[in-house]
Parts: sequence; C-alpha cells; structure tokens
Amino acid sequence: MIFEIIMQYYLVIIFFFIMVFIERKYPLREKKFSVKKRVLINLSFAFISFIIARSFSYPIIFIVRGIFGEDHFGILKILEFSAILSFIFSFIFLDYSQYVWHRINHSIPFFWTFHKVHHSDPDLDASTAFRFHFGEQFFAQFFRFFVIMLFAVQMEYVLIYDFISLFAIVFHHSNYYFKYDKILSRVIVTPSIHSIHHSRDFSEMNSNFSVVFSFWDRFHRSFKMTENVAMIKIGLNDIAENDANKLLNILVWPFNKKDKGS
Ligand SMILES: [Zn+2]
Repeated sequence: MIFEIIMQYYLVIIFFFIMVFIERKYPLREKKFSVKKRVLINLSFAFISFIIARSFSYPIIFIVRGIFGEDHFGILKILEFSAILSFIFSFIFLDYSQYVWHRINHSIPFFWTFHKVHHSDPDLDASTAFRFHFGEQFFAQFFRFFVIMLFAVQMEYVLIYDFISLFAIVFHHSNYYFKYDKILSRVIVTPSIHSIHHSRDFSEMNSNFSVVFSFWDRFHRSFKMTENVAMIKIGLNDIAENDANKLLNILVWPFNKKDKGS
C-alpha cells in the first residue's frame, strides 16, 4: 500500500507540471507575480505543512483507531451494499463531506484563520492547490477520520477518492482557459467556477465550495457563475500581496494576534 501511495504523489506531481505548462499556453487571467517564485513558495509551504500536520495528527488518530478497532458502527456496514454500490456511495459521501468541511472553514472564524492562508494567494494557479496551512490540514484529518468512521468507508476507497480528488484540486485551481469549461462545470468543479471562489468580493468568495462534483453547490444554492471570469480580483484584502508571497509570513499568520478575527 505504501508503494501505491508514493506512486500516487509522483503522478500528481507530473500532472501538476503538465498543468503549469498548459496554464502558460492558455491562461485564463493575467499573472501578477513570477510563476517560478510562487511555485517555489507554495510547494515549500505545502511540504512544511504536510510534515507538521501529520506529525501531530497521526499519533492521535492511531490511538483513537486502536480504541475503536475495526468492529465499529458505520452506515455503509448497516446498508450492506454490493462492492460497486459501496464504492459509489463512499465516493459520494467523501466528496459531500469535503463540501461540508470547506463551508465550515468559511463560516467558523477559528477555522477561517487557517483557511484564509489558502485564499491569500494573490495569483491563482495549479500551485495554489498545495497551499494549505498545517493548522487546516491538522483539523481536516480529524474531520475526515470522523466521516470515515461514521460511514465505515473502506481504506482502499478513501485512497481512490484522495487520488482522484488531488487531480481535481490541481485542475480546478489552475489558471487554464479551458474551451469546454462551461459544459464540464455542470458536473465537476472547473477553473472558471473555482476562481469565483477565490475572488476578493465576499459574495463571490462565499460560493462554489465543491471539490470534485459541482452539484453540491447547486443543491445548496451556493453555486455562482460570472461571465467575465478573467476580470475577477483574486486574493484577500486582509494581507498585502507581497506579504502573502513570503513563506514565514503565511506560516505564522494564523497565530498573529493583531490579525485574529479578520
Ligand atoms: Zn475556500
């Protein structure tokens, strides 16, 4: 299983560099900052956050898992679906839970202090897909753990969802002008609808929370479409653009007292 997980990350990194190349050829918006510098900052930030978040979350999850063991209550266990139905429902539950978790990050100030680091990126491209603060990653692990336990989702299905969703996240953050974006956005999250979520305008940012399937937003009436996506002002007003491009600044930003509650 470890080998499969490592392979998964290699393939995502290859897909990421393909998207970086495509973004340069078919850009959706004009860039404000150097791509090389931002890729370096966002990937370094992702690496540091990944290590810190998991160093703290894995031991706790390991202990809790040990307490409950394998034989715990779970909705999918009660329903006793066939393997294919169980996989489809697992995928749907996991994707819906990601929508709910994303909304929680926007509506509860404590979680927003971490998620705002992701939104502070003054340019939006494939590298933004990796820009998640370790605080957000840490709490996300527990939310996912709760969802996996509640629905009794098999670990293989979780890994398949993670694998597919990583590609989806890199794709919808990319600055790619995709010809069939509008048609595709009826089913999955595309660069144009996700760029509305990264707008500085509050009502635009408070929309399009979905991760893989876009219909969660339509179902909850949080879906938004704008004709002129290229004109959207990306980022946050709470932080200067140059500060948002400094690694140390964004690492400590959620713990900075004067910014609390912004
Ligand atoms: Zn968000």
